Amino acid sequence: MRGLMMDTPLLITSIMRHAQRNFADRELVSVTSDNPRHRYTYGECFQRAAQLANALARLNLKPGDRVGTLAWNDYRHLEIYYAAACSGLICHTINPRLFEEQLVYIINHAEDRVLLTDPLFIPLLEKLVDRIKGVEQFVVLSGQQELADCELPNVVTYEEFIRGEPEQFAWPDLDENTAAGLCYTSGTTGNPKGVLFSHRSSVLHAYAICLPDVMCLSARDAMLPVVPMFHVNAWGLPYACPMIGAKIVFPGAKMADGPTLHALFEEEAVTISAGVPTVWLVLLEHLRANDAVLTHLQRVVVGGAACPKSIMEEFQNRHSVWVHHAWGMTEMSPVGTYNTLKPGMEVFTDEERWQVRAKQGRGMYGVEMKITDDDDNELPWDGKAFGALKVRGPWVCSDYYRLEGESDAHDADGWFETGDVATIDAEGFMQITDRTKDVIKSGGEWISSIELENTAVGHPAIHEAAVIGVAHPKWLERPLLVAVKKPDAEVTKEEILEFMTGKVAKWWLPDDVLFVDELPHTATGKLNKRGLRQQLVDYRFE
Ligand code: ADP
Repeated sequence: MRGLMMDTPLLITSIMRHAQRNFADRELVSVTSDNPRHRYTYGECFQRAAQLANALARLNLKPGDRVGTLAWNDYRHLEIYYAAACSGLICHTINPRLFEEQLVYIINHAEDRVLLTDPLFIPLLEKLVDRIKGVEQFVVLSGQQELADCELPNVVTYEEFIRGEPEQFAWPDLDENTAAGLCYTSGTTGNPKGVLFSHRSSVLHAYAICLPDVMCLSARDAMLPVVPMFHVNAWGLPYACPMIGAKIVFPGAKMADGPTLHALFEEEAVTISAGVPTVWLVLLEHLRANDAVLTHLQRVVVGGAACPKSIMEEFQNRHSVWVHHAWGMTEMSPVGTYNTLKPGMEVFTDEERWQVRAKQGRGMYGVEMKITDDDDNELPWDGKAFGALKVRGPWVCSDYYRLEGESDAHDADGWFETGDVATIDAEGFMQITDRTKDVIKSGGEWISSIELENTAVGHPAIHEAAVIGVAHPKWLERPLLVAVKKPDAEVTKEEILEFMTGKVAKWWLPDDVLFVDELPHTATGKLNKRGLRQQLVDYRFE
């Protein structure tokens, strides 16, 4: 028997309508190229989104056509998110930090017909324009004055583009599985792959991240997403915040600028923020140097890469800010796990609590997880066994967008292979120990490269460390530690190995340590171990 409930589609359009009705006065603050502190309300935001939808409609785009963005976190970018998705188009957010070849590949693969760009990226696009012929219209996210020397064809400023358009739009009744957003993975292996989010997946993910044991978002919050809107939809915050009426503070291009972030946090009374570990290093350093503390901020979400304990400690001890570790990936919209303590853990000693907080967190409702060994047998949740981490759920991708050939990312039962290696403990806390491609197999046993790296950076003279497996005549593969020293620090290989002894299993200790001036990184700022392995392809242990 079927239930007798309304089959109301889960549409991003419904988030917009809800915010217009209930939070029309709630404020949005942005730093943009043409205004250091733009402010307006959700009401105005969605009026302008309707104007943009009308302007896009003039271009005769078909339902499902891709509208590309090369933009920072600001109010115009939010308007594009809603105008595109709610009018049946697809908002394709592009990471401007990718290499030029990757940008060209992505724009052509997505067949973007319109490209909306921050003025800062005009020179970049002028270089690429002959290789992205499918783009019919360029829109620069600014007022008229900034277009003086622009050499892009068919180019107009955003304000000119939407000027005079009606402030209402006949938003179509879409099927909830209609595609809404497109984001390519950064492609540390092979070409970037497109992940196509639907209205339904975006709405469900937004619901989930608002939950109390996840980000606990409410109308009383002011959120400053430091995570870019081109990095998996700023982790879903542009949907979650209007859903519950939180104020949003957008830092524009100033995401890694200590003084701007500090001013925004204080003057806009920001209560919660989210970003990858590196941005927090910049902010904390600025605050330390200026002997300043954050007075409104309560909690920070850190994900994208493992969060060092030092960041969590400094936020807590100096600023009374609680850092929540989170894990996810583009293919998961992105959030999969989130770290909040369970009841009973308040009596833990500091050390016990740090051990829990270092983990990537518990799977939230909607994301099923399991870990498996090489033969696909499920491993126990005992906090010790580590294996390939697989997930499934309504905001996990079922395939990639227009992939050439078969995807090998899903197993026969439809579980998505995350490419991460992890443990899960009896309380359900998951901890990443490696990427599948980076795990080191010594004599058939797995060694966690991440644990070795974390141990090595615990040494006061080490700035950054990477561990890779190198061929070994007896053990097949053994760990090699490649480290960057802090400026002016002196340390020897022997001192590092001595420091690591006792902190990791003896047979895990690296067979050698190399010091380098810098390590290769991907466009999203993560260690590029594939690049490092290529650099060291001729390296042999003595
Ligand atoms: P890309 O690397 O293409 O930008 P994502 O941003 O989707 O892709 O990155 C996903 C990967 O980042 C995860 O599979 C995982 O390896 C890593 N990651 C994400 N969050 C964390 C975390 N909190 N701790 C450790 N690794 C993480």
